Amino acid sequence: MAGPKLHVAVLAFPFGCHAKPVLNLVCKLATAIPQSHFSFFNTSKSNDALFFSSSHSDFPANVKPYSVEDGVPGGCHLSPANPPESLEVFLAATPENYVRAIDRAVTETGKNVSCLITDGFLLFSGKIAENLNVPWVPVWIPFPSSLSAHIYTDLIRRSYINNGDNNGTLEFVPGLSEMRISDLPDEVLIHGDSEETILSQMLSQTDRLLPRANAIVMNFYEELNPPLLTRDLNSKFQNLFNVGFLTLSLPPSPLPPSDSDPTGCLSWLDGQRTTSVAYISFGTLATPPREELAAIAEALEASGLQFLWSLRDNLADLLPNGFVERTKEVGKIVTWAPQALVLGHGSVGVFVTHCGCNSVYESIANGVPMICRPFFGDHRMIGRAVEEVWGVGVRVEDGVFTKTGLLQCLEVILEDHHQRGKEIEKNVKALKEVILKAAQPNGTASKDLESLMNIISVGTRT
Ligand code: UDP
Repeated sequence: MAGPKLHVAVLAFPFGCHAKPVLNLVCKLATAIPQSHFSFFNTSKSNDALFFSSSHSDFPANVKPYSVEDGVPGGCHLSPANPPESLEVFLAATPENYVRAIDRAVTETGKNVSCLITDGFLLFSGKIAENLNVPWVPVWIPFPSSLSAHIYTDLIRRSYINNGDNNGTLEFVPGLSEMRISDLPDEVLIHGDSEETILSQMLSQTDRLLPRANAIVMNFYEELNPPLLTRDLNSKFQNLFNVGFLTLSLPPSPLPPSDSDPTGCLSWLDGQRTTSVAYISFGTLATPPREELAAIAEALEASGLQFLWSLRDNLADLLPNGFVERTKEVGKIVTWAPQALVLGHGSVGVFVTHCGCNSVYESIANGVPMICRPFFGDHRMIGRAVEEVWGVGVRVEDGVFTKTGLLQCLEVILEDHHQRGKEIEKNVKALKEVILKAAQPNGTASKDLESLMNIISVGTRT
């Protein structure tokens, strides 16, 4: 039958910022392999945001979104303020919801699936690929060190439970000697069965299930990993492809005209001095408590700094009374910023971040130093890498925002006289250069992307 030779099924994970980088990868692959058709399976809510919001357009014609059920019984509503509940309900509906949607796409296209690309969290997908007799290619979106943490969960839990030392290092895990027990994702730091969630149970099987994959794709550049970590991961998987940061296209294109940005962020930044602005964002899920939002507001007011704050609607209501009015000459608050562009604007001097991997990668790729307040998942491991491994930022004292703590961090990064700030500035610029080199057409990421395309194009299990 005529039509595309390859039908690649893509199973996205509709939480946090997992689905967008996977879709970016899919678009790259779909453009490079025109004889393919990609069916993208995701909840309709997440697909609507990815495919049909005004800020996205121009998807290759050979990429088609399909909805999978979110597991919420008809007529029920889950509180948007409780993402873990939605996550657990969704996971309970897997894998059947994905399998049903794949069957629909096969019927509709008349093409059997030739390859299964999935989010790395969706560990049941190996079985689906096995049943379809096609290669399985999981994409690991979070920080690579967190993959090791999940692979070595059993060992870590045994050691942790044996010595109960939260500050102990993870030197018994190859490549994680710089990390502490307390940096681990919550899904690893479980003390007993009663604390297990569907997600933690699923991720604790990483060491058993993920090595069945034909290739693992990393949202990362090999050059940034400790060599020991790369060596260990390479020994565990058939193929490990570090294809670069998936929310960015590097080398960066020139910024678009500022008046094309409907949020007004770029135009506002145009009016500020070079490296003078603090950009603040906590991504799509992290929710600082009211007292920490108040501490940030107080620190910003006391510093007199220009700031651009991406603050989701549900959080803006928690700001101290009168703060917005009092700071309107120096600050701009938006519900969503074109973050990758904002970080590429010369007026931004520091990024106050929750340490989501994509946010941190975007900051490094633009040479912007960071102030970190990690919350959950891989955030604490990333925060430690930012401050102690790469030296490209600082973490707030004791892991929470206080007025004096944030003021000190801002001073370290933004005041000219600060030696540590100068070091951080130098390190982040150097790391940016490493990334730009790795992202060149003959760089490691391009080579790994090519190897990935070979596996998808051949479409046979090995
Ligand atoms: N982001 C954005 N504008 C905002 C806030 C976030 O474009 O106002 C994007 C950001 O550029 C990044 C993603 O949302 O690509 C957040 O991903 P990350 O891994 O940092 O955090 P998560 O949302 O998964 O916690």
